[in-house]
Amino acid sequence: MLNARRRGQLSAAAAIGALVVAAASTAGAGAQPAESIARDGKLPLRWTAETPDCANARPFLVHAYNPAFIILRQSGCTNFEKPFLYLLLGSKEALLVDTGAPGADASAAVDDLLRGYAQRQHSAVLPLVAVHSHGHSDHTAGDRELTRRGARVVEATPKALQEFFHIKDWPHDVGRYDLGERRLEIIPIPGHQGASIAIYDERTQLLLTGDTLYPGRLFVRDAAAFTESIDRLVAFTASHDVSHVFGAHIENTRTPYLDYPEGTAFQPDEHALELGRAHLLELQDALRGMGQQLQRRRFRDFTIWPVAPAPPG
Ligand SMILES: [Zn+2]
Ligand SMILES: [Zn+2]
Repeated sequence: MLNARRRGQLSAAAAIGALVVAAASTAGAGAQPAESIARDGKLPLRWTAETPDCANARPFLVHAYNPAFIILRQSGCTNFEKPFLYLLLGSKEALLVDTGAPGADASAAVDDLLRGYAQRQHSAVLPLVAVHSHGHSDHTAGDRELTRRGARVVEATPKALQEFFHIKDWPHDVGRYDLGERRLEIIPIPGHQGASIAIYDERTQLLLTGDTLYPGRLFVRDAAAFTESIDRLVAFTASHDVSHVFGAHIENTRTPYLDYPEGTAFQPDEHALELGRAHLLELQDALRGMGQQLQRRRFRDFTIWPVAPAPPG
């Protein structure tokens, strides 16, 4: 009951104050059970302005899901890919998942967020580690600038990820990482790309899936690897509650089965960002039905879209 009531309050708050960084901390909410506070987060009703206004658009829209889990969405005015980036704040370190697409620099926005968080916590600015949901250029464009500003950027290769997250057997083992009172699990999920990973945040029970599962076109380059990765993700979520699945893009509209054409910069009627475990099960079921001969097929909230394997090298 307590949870349901709090969620209701949060969604009402989201309706009023969407798309702003929450300045308030959770201090003062000490009467709530710790677990329910940790799970709480809010989502905006929309991630795009209702009318296009590139003259005044910020390169990154920033939304605090909660004070320690920040979502950044790159503006379509800077790149039609409009990727989502995630900033997770622990007590010792901050982790940025993806660094953006060409056309905008995420490092200034991330810097501001880290400084603001430090001020509110009355602590030093957290050191930043950046990793990637996978190695495609619409998720790695900010690497150089972040490195220049002192962040540790982990290269999007299986080897670098294995070393950093201590994953012995790629892609079968799950890696673990602790940002300080914030434990993460890293699940290798090659198939869309060779260095694709999913990240599970124990505190919010959010699962970040990059380009492997999101409301849009799921490009599959390696059908066998992708199918096995989805099987492993399903197995992982059988023993881990998932509050939301957040991917790295939105390409579908709010109309079931309908996506925006590739290259669309402005999507006023786009699908919600959040998916759930049911979508993962739907994807697994579809892949099993197709076997190794994947076909392009639309579902209510995403499309399976096989593409030719990447050339070697
Ligand atoms: Zn990709
Ligand atoms: Zn992408």
